[in-house]
Amino acid sequence: MADSTLLVVNGTVYDHDGDTDRPARADILVRGGRIAEVGAGIAARLAAAGERADETLDAGGMLVLPGFVNAHYHSHDVLMKGAWETPPLEIWLMKALPPSYPKRSREEIKLRALVGAWECLRGGITTIQDMVTLAPWDPDHLDAVLEAYDEIGIRAIVALQFADIPGIASIPFWEEVVPKKFHAVLSGGIEPPKEKVDLFDVVEQQYRRHAARHPRITWGLGPSGPERCSRRFLERLAALSEAEDLPVYTHIYEGKYMALHARQAYGKHGGSLINWLGEVGLLNPRMNLAHSVWLLPQEIERLAQTGTNVVLNPVGNLKTRSGVAPVRQLLQTGVNTALGCDNCSCSDVQNMFQAMKLFSGLTAVSDPEPGPPSAPEALRAATLAGAKGARLEGRLGALKPGYAADFSLIDLGDPSFVPLNSVARQVVYTESGRAVRSVVVEGRVVLRDGRLTQVDQDALREAVERAMVALRKDMAEVGARVDAIHGYLMEAYRRVWAADVGINRYVGHGRL
Ligand SMILES: [Zn+2]
Repeated sequence: MADSTLLVVNGTVYDHDGDTDRPARADILVRGGRIAEVGAGIAARLAAAGERADETLDAGGMLVLPGFVNAHYHSHDVLMKGAWETPPLEIWLMKALPPSYPKRSREEIKLRALVGAWECLRGGITTIQDMVTLAPWDPDHLDAVLEAYDEIGIRAIVALQFADIPGIASIPFWEEVVPKKFHAVLSGGIEPPKEKVDLFDVVEQQYRRHAARHPRITWGLGPSGPERCSRRFLERLAALSEAEDLPVYTHIYEGKYMALHARQAYGKHGGSLINWLGEVGLLNPRMNLAHSVWLLPQEIERLAQTGTNVVLNPVGNLKTRSGVAPVRQLLQTGVNTALGCDNCSCSDVQNMFQAMKLFSGLTAVSDPEPGPPSAPEALRAATLAGAKGARLEGRLGALKPGYAADFSLIDLGDPSFVPLNSVARQVVYTESGRAVRSVVVEGRVVLRDGRLTQVDQDALREAVERAMVALRKDMAEVGARVDAIHGYLMEAYRRVWAADVGINRYVGHGRL
């Protein structure tokens, strides 16, 4: 594998810096998992010299598109896609996330990682940032996730998600509105482990244990949210990130309740979680802020000044009634803005085509002026921006020499591209993922003609059906417990909506 060659012949090769409407035909030569050369006539030259690639892919009639970087994703609730309608974020996370559930089997953990990666690859996503929650903490479960990525062939930036402050303490009104007898049911999306462990030590040990595991798997740090982590935990993570140049992923202002909690509990920091992150050393180009829906204008300015990255997840934000992120202001201020598909049970899909289309269209709710983001900008957000936040700038997200050979072959004979007016605009506004035929990660064909090459997808599907027997039973029990206090939770939720946090990210609230 290290020195093997792959030749992709006669494709329409997308270049972010070239003609994004009508990209040129070109061949791509891959050596040892990296792009060695892109241009016309490479195949003919090699043939004339009597050289043969180990594998040749005929890309005639195909668009060769850089693999998408799904810059915010969680493998822990993959098996719950489509399980709920539209619960508010605070209610959804109790039904969906690991703290509410008994310990899962190792097999289930691996299966869910495989199915999530399968869905991603099927839609041209070649890199996932898995901010994975494993609760209760078990290092063997992390091994199961990594085994899944080793086997299926996807690229992953893995960050264990942890927090050391209980989730319910950071959700306004819960403790006062929900009667005491139900408090044991309340949980955040992440809770401190019940076992006596030093979370920072766990994170550092796992990073050191797996840092050199595989070139496709890189490491990140995943404090769940700054309001759910102590100063000491955050400062130690900041120091490790700086020393090892590790990207950091965290959730910021996903729901309005997080902004309200910031105003109430972070008065010393101007009511701002962004100021708090700055104080603990976590506002810098290594930091990636997932969601960023309820950012204040001055907070956006500070992100731009410090080179802090944002990862928007528009599909999940709509499902959980979280509001619409300030897309245009982020772009106009110069914040590096990537895209993700977030949890499988709140966006219900790992599909960057949907994410790009909403990213481009949602500015309509706050700004009637036509303008950014354009389709080529959406494609950059879905590739280069996520790579930059992961500290992989110049190595991932484009089809140029020196970059990782991560790309998909998309059928230009699909109705999405007939007739072909603009590749970029039809990828962003028309295509759904239907035309993705084959996917290459690190020079290896991991999806061919729509099917996985490294994993038996029929056996995988059957194994998932068997695992669902236990999970469905637990989902019903957890759901019933949460439904019993639904009225209280909705009252707390409505109180949040009635509060003034200085901005509104939900146009028409109370008026439509
Ligand atoms: Zn998330």
